Amino acid sequence: MSDAARGGGHTGDGTRAVRAGLPEPVKHEPTMPGPVFAAHFHLPGDVTGPYSYGRDDNPTWTLLERAIGELEAPRQDVETLVFASGMAAISAVLFSQLRAGDAVVLPSDGYQVLSLVRAQLEAYGIEVRTAPTRGDAQLKILDDARLLWIESPSNPGLDVCDIRRLVEAAHARGALVAVDNTLATPLGQRPLEVGADFSVASGTKQLTGHGDILLGYVAGRDATAMAAVRRWRKITGAISGPMEAWLAHRSIATLQLRVERQNTTALRVAEVLRQHPAVSGLRYPGLPDDPSHKIASQQMFRYGCVVSFTLPTRARAERFLAALHLVEDATSFGGVRSTAERRRRWGGDAVPEGFIRMSVGAEDPKDLVADLLRALDESAG
Ligand SMILES: *Cc1c(COP(=O)(O)O)cnc(C)c1O
Repeated sequence: MSDAARGGGHTGDGTRAVRAGLPEPVKHEPTMPGPVFAAHFHLPGDVTGPYSYGRDDNPTWTLLERAIGELEAPRQDVETLVFASGMAAISAVLFSQLRAGDAVVLPSDGYQVLSLVRAQLEAYGIEVRTAPTRGDAQLKILDDARLLWIESPSNPGLDVCDIRRLVEAAHARGALVAVDNTLATPLGQRPLEVGADFSVASGTKQLTGHGDILLGYVAGRDATAMAAVRRWRKITGAISGPMEAWLAHRSIATLQLRVERQNTTALRVAEVLRQHPAVSGLRYPGLPDDPSHKIASQQMFRYGCVVSFTLPTRARAERFLAALHLVEDATSFGGVRSTAERRRRWGGDAVPEGFIRMSVGAEDPKDLVADLLRALDESAG
């Protein structure tokens, strides 16, 4: 297949998404092969690759990994590894790259499970430093660090940092850089192109978009670093089942359609909700006057499907969520059905009691906006 058909930089996102990872066509074979269910593969004689045992490799992963690699870095040669979940992918990078005595810089406002990761890293003798995403505050604590972990936009606060600037500062100090690309998706931002060593994400969210599978991946340019990540996957067995991997690949075909619809509606929802007197602190990086917008507009192609805002009290937020018909009260984000939740119920994030994180789905924008406004008014109490 030609480079362009593979997504070699001249094709649009929609074209790349529908063709991502497809193998060379074979007469009478399906264009997109079905999932390969195998714990072991026929292996006479000496052990040779690529497929020997199902914890090490699987042909269904291979196609999905190629698909994600083509989206994360259309113009570069990268290696991609899929994992059982986003956390499996994140842990694989951190625990394969860091040793006792190393220092790592994490965001202080990142995904809430990072605080558990922090405790585990510290238990292994790794120094953990944290700073907020906003204002590139991680810059000030980079000296002698082995790895910088960036989450931009941050979840759930939606702050954005200047990835290129942080990468340059980290590399000048000999540190590796990993970017959590979950919220943006590879159609929203391509961290490897601005110099990051790893782009890591949960495929559970908008990448696969139907709220029915857990998945994670690591894409990276450095063969030695990726060999350690691969080894970690083998040691921990944090692998994706073939069915999940196949469903994920199938879902990527509609990624461009979904992000286009969901992200456009998210901007509309943000514009409408911010006018409502009960809503404060509304954040969406796509709003021209959002604190994240300036940097986001320089490094992102799309601004995501997540909007966050605060209602006056916990009770008002709970009444609002209960009154919605088209928005499910559920965690996670990125699915075709809108979801929202009162984030404080988890206890982890430093947000007000009335703070709502909303994920905008693929409903008709008019219906969704009407439902939100009705629920806001009905929840006035
Ligand atoms: C959900 C999420 C993760 C974890 O992914 P799982 O697939 O749930 O393990 C990591 N980072 C971010 C930003 C997330 O939103």
